[in-house]
Amino acid sequence: MRIVRFASPQGMSFGVLDGDGQIAQIEGHPFGQISFTGTRYAQADVRLLSPILPSKVVCVGKNYADHVKEMNTGDAPKEPLLFLKPSTAVLGPGDAIRIPAGSTNVHHEAELAVVIGARGARNVSPEQALASVFGYTIGNDVTERDMQKSDGQWTRAKGFDSFCPLGPWIETDLPGLGLDAADLEVTCTVDGEPRQQGRTSQLLFGIPTLISYISRVMTLLPGDVVLTGTPSGVGPIRPGQQVVCAIQGLGSLTNSVTAADGVSTAGGGA
Ligand code: ZN
Repeated sequence: MRIVRFASPQGMSFGVLDGDGQIAQIEGHPFGQISFTGTRYAQADVRLLSPILPSKVVCVGKNYADHVKEMNTGDAPKEPLLFLKPSTAVLGPGDAIRIPAGSTNVHHEAELAVVIGARGARNVSPEQALASVFGYTIGNDVTERDMQKSDGQWTRAKGFDSFCPLGPWIETDLPGLGLDAADLEVTCTVDGEPRQQGRTSQLLFGIPTLISYISRVMTLLPGDVVLTGTPSGVGPIRPGQQVVCAIQGLGSLTNSVTAADGVSTAGGGA
């Protein structure tokens, strides 16, 4: 099932997207037993949003050997290397990644994104971990490479607003498509030029290990997202370009790139 979150003239909802581009609206959230409102929309008539608003995005660094090599910052980690992206970094499909003022070295990182389901995950074993998964989507762990180097830790480099595109939908039944999350092709192109290509079978720490490891540090809540790391081929993106991250069975996540406008909304004013 493809779970989408969308904005229609009637407001924001979750829905199930079928193969004919029709969305069946869901009552409330998509976890557990789904109930439908009976209202249907054509995908063309609504705007798809990030398929989930996670309480946190937990990311894994240096989780593909060829990416570890291209970064040239030491060996692969002995244990999963965790960092967080703030929920405010999340961006929907079709929305613009905003390059911070003065920045010239913002990179794309196409990644398989794991979405945690209704039961969450706390202190789960690798054997229990997949039962905590709601589904999978595509993530782009957008990174300011110069700040990543100069800061020594990655909160700023990876935490800017718009630095976490997610979508376009959450696939809840990869086996039903004859696919396995542990072996999916991951690619990224910029303006049609191939940049990244890898397979999730190359993950140094696989999905059950990652979920178990993270769940022993912090409780994963329903809707939380785990970004599993990026294959080699990362590179710069500039205003005016278009980034397409694609994963087998999950469609493609397209975002334009623009300069940040710097408009202040201090105090929450418009
Ligand atoms: Zn990454």
